[in-house]
Amino acid sequence: MSYQRCGRSGLLLPRISLGLWHNFGGVDPFDVSRDMILRAFDQGVTHFDLANNYGPPFGSAEQTFGRVLSHELRGYRDELIISTKAGWRMWPGPYGEWGSRKYLIASLDQSLERMGLEYVDIFYHHRPDPETPLEETMAALDQIVRGGKALYVGVSSYKAEETRRAGKLLKELGTPFIIHQPRYNMFDRWIEDGLLDTIEDVGIGCIVFSPLAQGLLTNRYLSGVPADSRAGKPHGMLRPEHVTSDKVAKVRQLDDIARGRGQTLAQMAIAWTLRHPQVTSAVIGTSRVAQVDDAVGALAYLGFSGAELRRIDEILAA
Ligand code: NDP
Repeated sequence: MSYQRCGRSGLLLPRISLGLWHNFGGVDPFDVSRDMILRAFDQGVTHFDLANNYGPPFGSAEQTFGRVLSHELRGYRDELIISTKAGWRMWPGPYGEWGSRKYLIASLDQSLERMGLEYVDIFYHHRPDPETPLEETMAALDQIVRGGKALYVGVSSYKAEETRRAGKLLKELGTPFIIHQPRYNMFDRWIEDGLLDTIEDVGIGCIVFSPLAQGLLTNRYLSGVPADSRAGKPHGMLRPEHVTSDKVAKVRQLDDIARGRGQTLAQMAIAWTLRHPQVTSAVIGTSRVAQVDDAVGALAYLGFSGAELRRIDEILAA
């Protein structure tokens, strides 16, 4: 594994991190979830990314992680970077989502209890809240750090201007704001349009989520939708209708380039997201141990020629 500094902070993150959004919930076989976590850690993946609502049911991925932490990973807390988030709907009523102080503080307390932790390493506001003053949300993040419940804070899916404002407020408060978590992959390039520049200006790191477009940018869907794939499962956030013939045609062409590089398509897709100096880490999802190994293998070859990048742009723009 290689590690990169997260913005201008003291924290180093692994170039590949493991996310527990899918395949670590109460509906998933515990043994497989545990084995993926342990395999990742054995490969040097020191960062595990969670959120209050990962499951299903909500909260169960944190319980799964807490179970592994209290057994197999007992004694390794100081070798781990554990993050969680609040922002999306977690419990009924007006205090179970968005960005109020009331919600964020209660949610993190619940997350800590589920994972059996005293603190998380990174706590994120999961999505911008158009109704709550940003001052309130940022002050809640500050209070969380001062109360010893998180070491660092981050934001997810904030646009460039929102990130700049958050950075200013947190700097005034003296809060260790070190990271932004946006979606980024070959099919969704919005961060190239200003956010990456802002991230650099603010001096924070960037961990990109869904670098494989939830599995579309792999060999998973080249011959239909397998029953054991995310799009094939009833609770997956990727639906069969997202696997369009247009996307599959592009994926086939991208797969040819990856083969020419001696990589799997998943490996090339991960390497492609890591090519920006601002991108500290790519947080992947996995459904089996072999996918953890495949992702880590991407680090063996991260370079791209100008011709390869141009060809990828052509395929994506067609
Ligand atoms: P990816 O884009 O990495 O997709 C993961 C899926 O791709 C896997 O479940 C698997 O699908 C397939 N896959 C992975 N590796 C391979 C491989 N080597 N070969 C073939 N198929 C492969 O990421 P996710 O969408 O899962 O997101 C990753 C993490 O990002 C989440 O767990 C979460 O931590 C974070 N996230 C954050 C969000 C936010 O709002 N901040 C939103 C969404 C995600 P299959 O199951 O079909 O095998």
